[in-house]
Amino acid sequence: MEHCVPTANGSAALLVALEALDVGPGDEVIVPGLTWVANASAVLRVNAVPVLVDVDPQTLCVSVDGVRQALTSRTGAICVVHLYSSMADMDGLRALADDAGVPLVEDCSQAHGAAWGGARAGTLGAVGVFSMQQTKVLTAGEGGAVITASGDLARRLEQLRADGRVFRRAPPPVGALELAELGEVTGANLAMSEVQAALLLEGLTRLEDENRVREDNASRLDVALAELPGVTPIRSLPGQTRRSYYHYVVRVDCRRFGRQDVAPFAAMLSAELGFPAERIYRPLNDHPLYRPSTRRSSALSAAYRAAVDPTRFRLPECDRAHDEVVSFHHRLLLGDDRDMDDVIGAFHKVWDHLA
Ligand SMILES: *Cc1c(COP(=O)(O)O)cnc(C)c1O
Repeated sequence: MEHCVPTANGSAALLVALEALDVGPGDEVIVPGLTWVANASAVLRVNAVPVLVDVDPQTLCVSVDGVRQALTSRTGAICVVHLYSSMADMDGLRALADDAGVPLVEDCSQAHGAAWGGARAGTLGAVGVFSMQQTKVLTAGEGGAVITASGDLARRLEQLRADGRVFRRAPPPVGALELAELGEVTGANLAMSEVQAALLLEGLTRLEDENRVREDNASRLDVALAELPGVTPIRSLPGQTRRSYYHYVVRVDCRRFGRQDVAPFAAMLSAELGFPAERIYRPLNDHPLYRPSTRRSSALSAAYRAAVDPTRFRLPECDRAHDEVVSFHHRLLLGDDRDMDDVIGAFHKVWDHLA
């Protein structure tokens, strides 16, 4: 990708990406039902309608069929999120988006360094969006970026995040700002600081090595944990050639222990390991932090208020994943062989106990 426009955070990156693609009132944006709330709330910020779609149970990312069924003549963008450690089916989604003439926004906030068919995550859509918030595998505490191959989009993105200004290509006169005033599109100040940028450039030199450590440890866990009946590590599709682990995620069939959901299993694992084992995101049609009706702008019209009501969507695979999947933050995967033995041992102990 030729162009990278840094932003204050990933949410700002999503916002300027949608604005650069000219998504606005009257448009729908397809958003996974299982993701961080920023994907849907960014759509509300441009007064468009988030259309929530169900996920593929193997990857936990949007399925091609789910997106196909949600496409309408009003679809202004498709937001794809590579969730936890898996990428969505980018061959199928790109073909679908090209046919429909709708841009793909590829959210790689959980996939720094991942690859599909040898191509890096973020280079497969119209724009690639990244977060460098404190929990992510590449971080400066806060931070974001949008990458694109399009010079026109980059020019809009730059102005949208710096009050209509762009970086000067030539060094500025002594004492002058590095920004040139263009004003082709009115933006806001959503810029990244130089201190953040310096931290990220340093972090980038470590990313490949750390990703490799996480990938090796995860492969070991995949093999060992799959030996337990009813325990299934989340897999990636054959097209994904590199995995990047934001969270390590495992599906546990809790019904076999007579449990409604994975909460008791996760609590016991946490106690055993002294490291949090967590449940994954609540689906966005039932998420306490995603309540469009709490925003004044949702009352633009009765029709808009009804359209943004997330409870109108059915997301059975998101619901099932929320009930069954247990997750660990990526720093668990930066441990050594003995740490991985501890994780495997803890799974066995909890499984034996519940069984
Ligand atoms: C973290 C995250 C964001 C939001 O990024 P912030 O930097 O916290 O604003 C957006 N999308 C996904 C998938 C994320 O994981």
